[in-house]
Amino acid sequence: MTVLTERPSPQPKPEFEPEGKSKTDLVVFGLVVGLPILAIIAAVPFAWGWGLGWTDVIIAAAFYIVTGLGVTVGFHRYFTHGSFKANRPLKIALGIAGSLSLEMSVVDWVAAHRKHHKFSDKEGDPHSPWRFGPGFKSMCKGLLYAHVGWLFEAERTNRAKYAPDLLKDPDVMKLHRWFPTIAVSSVLLPPILGGLITWSWHGALTAFFWGTLVRIGLLHHVTWSVNSICHVFGEEVFESRDKSRNVWWLAIPSFGESWHNLHHSDPTCARHGALKGQIDLSAGLIRWFEKAGWVYDVRWPNPERLAAKRIA
Ligand SMILES: [Zn+2]
Ligand SMILES: [Zn+2]
Repeated sequence: MTVLTERPSPQPKPEFEPEGKSKTDLVVFGLVVGLPILAIIAAVPFAWGWGLGWTDVIIAAAFYIVTGLGVTVGFHRYFTHGSFKANRPLKIALGIAGSLSLEMSVVDWVAAHRKHHKFSDKEGDPHSPWRFGPGFKSMCKGLLYAHVGWLFEAERTNRAKYAPDLLKDPDVMKLHRWFPTIAVSSVLLPPILGGLITWSWHGALTAFFWGTLVRIGLLHHVTWSVNSICHVFGEEVFESRDKSRNVWWLAIPSFGESWHNLHHSDPTCARHGALKGQIDLSAGLIRWFEKAGWVYDVRWPNPERLAAKRIA
């Protein structure tokens, strides 16, 4: 037996030294990401009546909600993390709804996201905003990389390594092969609907702008914000190995995904917003599916586990 005579060595250094977050980071990033969205919102009153009407609003909102929940409930909580089990029709419906978001095929989305959890904010994470280290310049670069830059990397996450379960599922593979067709239908359906409802080319054109372009762009930005903003800014309430944070103001548009700190702390949990007052619409939908008998074995938050991981 060896007797320890030396003083215990200091704690290993974290990968990246925590640094006081500059408000300027958020401002610069907010301008780049937020300005186009604000410009579109500002355009709404000007366009109302001739370039935008209730038909466009309803089509855009319906597609945003269906495709957004397809990503959060389907791609993320079900296919990636197995937070619940689903019957076959619902599994296929969730796969189609998520594919309509035009983010990636279900297999590629799941593979990239599982890799993100495996290496979160360390080397190997496909989209960590901490990739270039702390400090103002590196963080700006990192935020943009985590937000959108990573999508332009030539390398794709290995499917066989990160999503072997999905490769064995014939239904999922069909969804994967059909992804280009589903993607095209997501682009074409809003103008077709808008054209038919208003019986005009003008109605088809405005529905294409709001229901296709704006809707897809907005959902992409919200999804990407979870990768960028929710790994830098916000509150840390639960213990996790990375820099995941809770960002309250993204909770509604992200359908609860911006309660990202608990998600990294307990990834298979079906509810990300588990604390009082944390709205999580995806968890609400899962609960509704459970009551309807379409999903089962839901991993709802366990109060003891939560308490053990709570740090603030
Ligand atoms: Zn994350
Ligand atoms: Zn996740």
